[in-house]
Amino acid sequence: MAVTTDRDHKGGFVRPSSIAESVHERIYERIMSLEIPPGARITIDGLARELNVSQTPVREALTRLEREGLVRKAHLIGYSASPQLTHKEFDDLYKFRLMLEPESARQACLNLTPETLKRIESAAADMETGEQPVDSNSRYSRFARADAHFHDEILKVADNEFVRQALNDQHIHLHIFRLMFHSRVTQEALEEHERLLAAFRAGNAEAAYQAMQDHIARSRDRLAAAFQ
Ligand SMILES: [Zn+2]
Repeated sequence: MAVTTDRDHKGGFVRPSSIAESVHERIYERIMSLEIPPGARITIDGLARELNVSQTPVREALTRLEREGLVRKAHLIGYSASPQLTHKEFDDLYKFRLMLEPESARQACLNLTPETLKRIESAAADMETGEQPVDSNSRYSRFARADAHFHDEILKVADNEFVRQALNDQHIHLHIFRLMFHSRVTQEALEEHERLLAAFRAGNAEAAYQAMQDHIARSRDRLAAAFQ
């Protein structure tokens, strides 16, 4: 089965580093799937007991998840899952994306080489391999990460580290995928990515701009339902 997976299904003896990895993965999925709801407190010993591991890998995982924007740490209180976006924050986040991402797609198109096009195409293809019958939690979180990766590959080619960092700092895909958890997986998003790829392949920078603008505006409209 030629699917990509970042899980270790080998069973039997597992190296300590894979324990840390798998603990991170399991907490990540719980947060993305809202099993740990936005704002909920997370205790180290509680998680360690539930996952049947020692506190060390849980601590490591939480430190990493804090960097990734999924959890917050407050002095004397400890960890909690990052809060859900407010409607205002959601609107602002999409305005911000619309300012930066279409222009980045245009720039990326102007900078494209056969090699970087291949990287963007393979990031797009990763999103379509998430269809195997695994539980929906890991399917969602895999989709979220694959989409983040696709958008980031375009930003890399656009080659403006300030823009790339500004977008990455917002942990956009974390918020989006928690918002859309109860809606359908986005076949539409894949089709929009396909239009963007077509513009890249044709070397049409204006079409790339339009396709990205269209993708983000539609994504906003799909998700706005979460606030009704
Ligand atoms: Zn996308």
